[in-house]
Parts: sequence; structure tokens; C-alpha cells
Amino acid sequence: MSTMTSNESQFARARKVIPGGVNSPVRAFGSVGGAPRFIVSAAGPRITDVEGREYVDLVASWGPAILGHAHPEVVAAVQDAASRGLSFGATTPAETELAELVVERLGGTRAQGGLVDELRLVSTGTEATMTAIRLARGFTGKPLVVKFAGHYHGHSDGLLAAAGSGVATFGLPASAGVPEPIAAQTIVLPYNDLDAARSAFAAHSGRIAAVIVEAAAANMGVLAPDPGYNAALASIAHANDALLILDEVLTGFRVAPDGYWGLEKTRSTEPYDVDLVTFGKVIGGGMPMAAVGGRSDVMEHLAPNGPVYQAGTLSGNPLAVAAGFATLRLSDKETYAQLDRVSSTLQTAVSDALTEVGVAHTIQSAGNLFSVLFAPRPARDYADVQAQDAFRFPPFFHAMLERGVALPPSVYEAWFVTAAHDDRAMNQIIDALPHAARAAAEIRPGS
Ligand SMILES: *Cc1c(COP(=O)(O)O)cnc(C)c1O
Repeated sequence: MSTMTSNESQFARARKVIPGGVNSPVRAFGSVGGAPRFIVSAAGPRITDVEGREYVDLVASWGPAILGHAHPEVVAAVQDAASRGLSFGATTPAETELAELVVERLGGTRAQGGLVDELRLVSTGTEATMTAIRLARGFTGKPLVVKFAGHYHGHSDGLLAAAGSGVATFGLPASAGVPEPIAAQTIVLPYNDLDAARSAFAAHSGRIAAVIVEAAAANMGVLAPDPGYNAALASIAHANDALLILDEVLTGFRVAPDGYWGLEKTRSTEPYDVDLVTFGKVIGGGMPMAAVGGRSDVMEHLAPNGPVYQAGTLSGNPLAVAAGFATLRLSDKETYAQLDRVSSTLQTAVSDALTEVGVAHTIQSAGNLFSVLFAPRPARDYADVQAQDAFRFPPFFHAMLERGVALPPSVYEAWFVTAAHDDRAMNQIIDALPHAARAAAEIRPGS
């Protein structure tokens, strides 16, 4: 590496050999402009770029770094596993221990009032939701899937469907390369609208295998479900012999020890029945690992016991399992209390800074996940999110970045805190906010 390298020169070099210079699109800074920061190391609440600049990080690898980056005990667990072999392509005792830990953390088996009986490990959240959908179709023998506009479940073909016009119509491809007949197997509905879900089941009677929903939407900014919404979706699905797939890839093990499902369980007296759940992000502790879990009678439909095929050369990879196990074990009550404190302090600080300069905004939150909506009223669905003053975000983002705070590079992303955000990190963020708020206030649409 040359000593005179810069983010700009790295970006130019990367773009010649990597499409867009990135291995996942949002990293390209497309919606905020400028060269992305090329990160060379991270520790605790901070990341360091190729120019040697440090930033307080509010991306946390999109969630996994819940304990802060490079937590010594997590790193040691991975190093220890690595010294015993990188991958065996065979069963390991550690996989069983992780599955047991997950079942226990989510309240035990379903008969005990918990969330999942069994767990299958995969490598990405995309694989987890893809597997859950195939399993739901294999179990019910039905073809269609319901999803919600603005919800992200990874990039498998069938889940890259966009809303057609009108309620309960078949989806349209949301990406080039997704054939229309595949997108048409997905029905895309407005979020937080139970009538839309009921109409879809009425219009496609006996043909819907599953409803897939983010436990709390957090890929269009954060947008929590109405109280009772997930429970009602479960009832509607079950009344029609369809399954509910709760996507906790982002929220699972992040908003509470037992995810958003756990948060809702503590808040309401009426527990709801989830058939399949997907996990990712935190469960891998920063390594490529995700999982699908659920009812044993449904899970037993997976190969080798059942007819639904699913496999993975690197599934249950020993390094990933070690990172995930250590991360979950270390994320205790105090960790979640700290995440809640950090998040709540930041939410107030961001809102105060924007109020001070008269920028209309709403802080949208779901547990410790939050995002800033540049609109005076809370959003309830994707249309509301799209109607915000999104043009205010890029100057806000860059003013923070200049002062050493790395926000997610899109207004459509959640902000991720870590338990390692200490007073020094928090003060740096809080000191930067008035500058960012001013930049957001001064920008004019289209400029
Ligand atoms: C990130 C995410 C996925 C996809 O996970 P990958 O590991 O990126 O494939 C799926 N669902 C939700 C809710 C996510 O946030």
C-alpha cells in the first residue's frame, strides 16, 4: 500500500476491478455523494480509514458489532477456533451448542412459550429468508408469498418484487434480471394496513403459503409496526392455513436479548404464534452467519429429513459459530440497557439539534434502533417515508462525517449504536450535531 493513498484514489482504483467499487451497493455513497471511506481497522465504537482518520461509527457493520468492533473476547474466540481449522464441511459440537443457546435465549421451545424449536444455520440473511420461503411453500403446498412495500429481506429473486398498482395485485420485478413470472409469485402490500392483508387473502384464497414481515421495519429507515399488527398478521395467515415468517435478521438479538418478538412479548399480554423466524447480522457476531428457525414440524420438512432441499458448504462454519456464540454470550442484560441508554441519548440530541434550527423531522424508533425522518409526522408505510425531505440528509451526513462521525450513508437506513459507545464517543457525536442540523436547514431542494 502506498503511503500517499486517499479514499478518492482507493475508490478510483476499486472501480476498475469491482463493479461500482463496492461489494454491496449502499457502500458506494451513491445517495450522499463523495468517495466512500475505505476502512482498514476498527475497535470499540470507532473505525479508521485508509487516510488514518478515525470516525465514531453508527453503522456497526449494519448491526453485528453490538459489543463494539473487535471485542477482545470475540476476537479471541475466533482466533482459538481458527487455530483448530477453518472449515470442516462436517458437523461440529459448537453448532449444537449455538442452536441450544438460541432456543434458550428465545424463551425455550415453543411448547415452553418460546420462539423456535430448531435452527438451521446458513451464511447470509438472504439465504435465511430464501430458505424460509421455500420451506413455507414445501410445507403448505401453496405458491404465493405476501411481503410489504419497503421491507427488505435480502436479494433473492422472489423477494426483489415491487408493489404493483392497487392492493393484492401481483408483484413486479424490483431489479433487472428478475423474471416477471417470479416477481408475480410475490404479492406486495402496504405496511401497517390489515385490511390490505385481509383483501390479499380473500383475492388469492388457498394460494398463499406465507406472509413474510420484518419484525419491525428497519430498511426504509426505522418504522415500527402498529401495536398488535404482527399478532394480527399471524392470525390472518393462520386463518388461511398460511405461515407467518418473522424476519428478525436485523432486529434479532439487537433490540433485546430475544429480539423484537421479545420486546412485543413483554409489552403485550397476548403472545402471537410465529411459524418461522430468520436471523442474521448479530447472530454471526461480524462473521458470515445467519439462521432460519421455527416450529419443529415445519423445520423437519428440511433435507435430510424432509423433501425441502437446502445446503451449504460453509454453513455452520466454525469461525462464524465461534464469533456468534461469543457475541450472544457476552450480550447480557447490561449490554441491552447500555444500548437503550446510548440510543435514547442520541435520539434526544438529534431531535434537539434539528428543532433548534427549525428542521421538520420525526425520530422513528423500534427499541434501540432509530432513524431520522425529515417530515413533521411519523411515517406508517413506505409511501410516507418516500414523501420526506430526503434532500436534507446528504448535507447532514457530510457535516457529521467531516467531524468524525460515520452515519449510515442513506436516509433509508437505521442508525446502529453499540455497547462500546462511551462518553467520549457520545460527546463527539453530540458536538457534531448542531453543525449537521444547520447544514440540513440551509440546503434547498434540488441544490
Ligand atoms: C440485512 C437483512 C437481510 C439480508 O441479510 P444479508 O446477510 O445481507 O443477506 C434480510 N432481512 C433483513 C430484515 C435485513 O435487514
